[in-house]
Amino acid sequence: MFAHPDDAETAVGGSLLTWAAEGWEITLCVITDGDKGTNDPADSRRAVIERRRREQTAAAARLGAAVIYLGYEDGALQPTLDLRRDLVRVMRRVRPLRVVANDPTVWFRHGLYINHPDHRAAGQAVVEAAYPAVKKASIFPELLAEGCEPHVVEEIWLSPTDEPDTWVDISGVFDAKIDLICDHASQFSRESTRAAFSRIASAAGQPRSLAAAESFRTLRLAANTVRALAGE
Ligand SMILES: [Zn+2]
Repeated sequence: MFAHPDDAETAVGGSLLTWAAEGWEITLCVITDGDKGTNDPADSRRAVIERRRREQTAAAARLGAAVIYLGYEDGALQPTLDLRRDLVRVMRRVRPLRVVANDPTVWFRHGLYINHPDHRAAGQAVVEAAYPAVKKASIFPELLAEGCEPHVVEEIWLSPTDEPDTWVDISGVFDAKIDLICDHASQFSRESTRAAFSRIASAAGQPRSLAAAESFRTLRLAANTVRALAGE
């Protein structure tokens, strides 16, 4: 569950390809339309949204994933209760074992750029939806009327992160990850994308001596936190 079209592919595309090959069923949830993703003042908002959805749909098809669009405005995302409710609705309908999102605590990357505020807002909203709202019927009771029953998300995987505890070796799928990213043709040129993501994958893999990796900060959630802490 990520802020923009292309966020899932850039942050965790190699892991998604790996999991898809292992037989995992994948649903992408794209929170904003990516409607600020143009430098051409003649581009209409509608045209940008259509282009970005077309690109995202192509990437999802390559991955064999379903895709859900929430239609929020690009560049203005906030971790509001409305967004939390929308994310809870998706989690209760899709009922995922594992939810993947941006680490909301990441402000700066590679000494080169500031993490997009939409990424932090999306990560925060996803984490706040996953606990406790998704599993408590009394939170957003209106969702029950829609048939969205409570659900326990077992795992949260956050990336990119400055506090990794889990690494996925993406050496074997690195080229396919670049293809996936380049499905977003309005945003990425192949040559610089390959060079940039090769550097990112190499840096992520360094702590585990992997040539190319994606790293995650993970949480294993339990239906009852107190019992889990008690070791039951
Ligand atoms: Zn983004």
